[in-house]
Amino acid sequence: MARNLSFSYSKMGMYKECPQKYKFRYVHMIPEQPKYYFAFGSALHEVMEYIYNPNQPAFPSLEQALSFFENHWNKTSFEQKGYASVEKELAGFAEGRRIIEEYYAKHAASFVHPLSVEMKSTLDMDGLSLISILDRIDYLGDGKIKILDYKTGKTVQREPDQLYMYQKVVENSPAVKALVQKVDPGVSELRVGQLSFYHLPTLQEMTFERAPDKEIFSFWQGVLKVADNIRAGKFDPTPGENQCRWCDYRNICPVFTGKEYDPSAASLRPQAMAPQAEPVKSEQELLSEKIDRCGALLEEAKSLQKEIISLMRKNNFERHFGANFKAELARVEKLEFTDKEKVVELLRTLKLLAKVLVPTQSTVAALLQDDSVPAQAKAKLSAFARKTQEDNLTINKAE
Ligand code: SF4
Repeated sequence: MARNLSFSYSKMGMYKECPQKYKFRYVHMIPEQPKYYFAFGSALHEVMEYIYNPNQPAFPSLEQALSFFENHWNKTSFEQKGYASVEKELAGFAEGRRIIEEYYAKHAASFVHPLSVEMKSTLDMDGLSLISILDRIDYLGDGKIKILDYKTGKTVQREPDQLYMYQKVVENSPAVKALVQKVDPGVSELRVGQLSFYHLPTLQEMTFERAPDKEIFSFWQGVLKVADNIRAGKFDPTPGENQCRWCDYRNICPVFTGKEYDPSAASLRPQAMAPQAEPVKSEQELLSEKIDRCGALLEEAKSLQKEIISLMRKNNFERHFGANFKAELARVEKLEFTDKEKVVELLRTLKLLAKVLVPTQSTVAALLQDDSVPAQAKAKLSAFARKTQEDNLTINKAE
């Protein structure tokens, strides 16, 4: 009999993002680099598990929760967590503390012990060995339970399909049923009463009713289709700007290298992703490389700016935030002095020629901002200019 395929929601997510990436991660077993957002999320999940531990009769105080968080956080270095610097790691730590403090301010008075926290469930069904970690399960009474999943990303808004998977798992799980029967021995059938994402950074909860069987059926068909594709070895890459930009496998991906990845060659090295020793380069070679790299980055920056402007215009955004930077877009008036000879003549008449060493577009336009130029002269100069509108995009560190 064929072995069940070990599967989880995150594996399915990776396959949907890019089957080739899934192959690198789960077929060739090449680990990804640590990601700071996973480390941050995992630390907060640990704190929630600590707070709601059903085996502890009393809930920890805020000070105890903060100290637990600090101990957990300090177990690994900033590099191990995936942060780019100690400063960024410290900012992550401060954000974690803020979330815990605000969580206590909002919920500490109404803490109730759940049925379980961080329950690891493995369920064999339909040829899959489904692994799920259920952040929190609450018993609502009458055989009904609530499944709650903590989120620590940017927003709480998301599709409920992860919860659909948990609904399917929980309603078929003998382990969850046994837990419920411990507190309510009369229960013979388990039903999900409520599904919920809880977004810790904003303390917002997004709740869903139990998904109808029809919806779960069609969701499950999608899951089984992904599993069939994996079994059939369908791992064609699906490159895209977003997924490839952050993908750890770019340097071995056929889309970028132009050749299939060869695991047997990689096995000669300790890790496929490990850098190879490079020959020593001369200073001139290094300089040329830096120039090329800088040129390529500047070109990419220009093309990104164009895309950002076009997307912001399309959505009528004046400001938009990335994780670390903010973009602001303004329409500014641009003055063009096209007839150089006439401009020089006008400057001479206005006795402004001495103020510009060389009359160029920018030096003449600068006269309009110069407090020492009389308003009347500015008006004449301005009337002489051809006015156009242009987009002014600024990108700065988000505070
Ligand atoms: S680089 Fe892009 S195409 Fe290649 S594996 Fe990663 S996500 Fe897929």
